[in-house]
Amino acid sequence: DIILSVDGLNVTYPGNVRALADTSVAFRKGQFTVLLGLSGAGKSTLLRSLNGLVKPTAGHVEAQGIGRLSSAALIRRHRRATAMVFQHHQLLHRKTALANVLTGRLAYHSTLRSLVPLPREDQELALHCLERVGLADKALSRVDQLSGGQQQRVGIARALAQKPRIILADEPVASLDPSTSERVLALLQRVCREDGITAIVSLHQLDYAQRFADRIIGLADAHVVFDAAPAALDRSQ
Ligand code: ADP
Ligand code: ADP
Repeated sequence: DIILSVDGLNVTYPGNVRALADTSVAFRKGQFTVLLGLSGAGKSTLLRSLNGLVKPTAGHVEAQGIGRLSSAALIRRHRRATAMVFQHHQLLHRKTALANVLTGRLAYHSTLRSLVPLPREDQELALHCLERVGLADKALSRVDQLSGGQQQRVGIARALAQKPRIILADEPVASLDPSTSERVLALLQRVCREDGITAIVSLHQLDYAQRFADRIIGLADAHVVFDAAPAALDRSQ
């Protein structure tokens, strides 16, 4: 059951920087896939291509139920059901945790809906999402008063509030210490499983990938260099 795929994807940035070369990958529904690679390997470019934020130089991206992301309207439709989580959270730092999670509801509603006040059930859903990441008691705290791990959990709650079928997370734990990183990855894995969300998460640590992924795709220098279950990588070491 393929939910998202790229076929013959090439991305070359201005200055002739090749970030992805002839990449074809299909993502199965409900899988927790880790994109593993060093800085500059192309992980972020692949994630942003999967969300229509990067336009392929060649090849295409296809989403289940939508087809090839070949027009702005199709990309918008795909993005409503695809939430992003970032390394630096991309939160509104002076706003409360609850206000930030509510922005996930704006992404869920159509552009027109976002111009009117969000209904009460959106507030309730946002609070529920904060409860799921263990931050109900911080709902009215300003984000800049939370720790890095708490901020990342707000980022996950905001993604959940979008009711996505896919979560794309770009180095979600790169700026967190090891024990906080493990807790954030375990949380992301659990909420995705509970909701049947397909997760594609970039990391640069093999040990985290092995502990949390259903599947590990290795990227190096714009190429997929391996694609395996974590157990298969154990044997090859
Ligand atoms: P990763 O996420 O694995 O660190 P990226 O996808 O960010 O890798 O980058 C892949 C390559 O593309 C790198 O060489 C990077 O410097 C280059 N790159 C990324 N974004 C841009 C951009 N907007 N313009 C030019 N080069 C870029
Ligand atoms: P971090 O502290 O995690 O490194 P940054 O300071 O890089 O995060 O900011 C992450 C995002 O939040 C950026 O997109 C930035 O524009 C935005 N941001 C930062 N501070 C504020 C603020 N006070 N109000 C609104 N947006 C902010």
